[in-house]
Amino acid sequence: MYFGPTEVSQMRSSFDLAEKLTEKYFSLGAGGIKSHPYEVKTLIELREHEVHEKAFAHLCKYYVPEKSNTSENAGFSFYKVCLQDNRILDAVTRGGSFIKFAPLMLYIALHEMVHVVRFGSGAVDFEAPEEEKREEEERVNVLTRGILQPVADRDLNLVIDCFNDCYHIGDIFNN
Ligand SMILES: [Zn+2]
Repeated sequence: MYFGPTEVSQMRSSFDLAEKLTEKYFSLGAGGIKSHPYEVKTLIELREHEVHEKAFAHLCKYYVPEKSNTSENAGFSFYKVCLQDNRILDAVTRGGSFIKFAPLMLYIALHEMVHVVRFGSGAVDFEAPEEEKREEEERVNVLTRGILQPVADRDLNLVIDCFNDCYHIGDIFNN
C-alpha cells in the first residue's frame, strides 16, 4: 500500500507545518531548518535497507564525501526520513474514526524534525548504543507532545493520546 496523490500532498503540508513549529521552538534563526539538511521519501522511493517492517518512519543518515581533497571543503551529512506508507495507512484504517491521516502525519513529521535537529546539533549521537537511543526516543516523544499540545485540535489530541500507549514510531532502532 502506497500513498496516493492526496496523501502525498497532505504529507508535504504536514512537514511544512512541522518545520515551522520546529524552527520556532528551537529558535533556529535565519538559516532555519536548512542548517540541518534532510529529505523525505515515501515507500515507493525507498531502497531495500530503508524499508522498516515495524516503524512508521525510518531515519537514515548519509554522508556525502567532498570530491576535492582540500580540507576546508569537508563532506557533509544529511538525514533521510523514510516513510513507511503501508504502516501509516494501516494505523489510520485500524484507528477508525479516531485516527486521521493528516494529524497522524503531523505527529510523525514533527517527531522526525525533532530528531533531525537534535542529531544535527550534536545534542545526541546518531551512532549511540541502543539503550541511549531508547532514552533519546522518550525525550523526543516528550518534546513532540510539548510542541504540539498548544496547537492541537481534537483530532491531533487523539493522536497525541494514542502515541502514549498504542503507537511507537520506532524510527531510530534496528530491531
Ligand atoms: Zn523516534
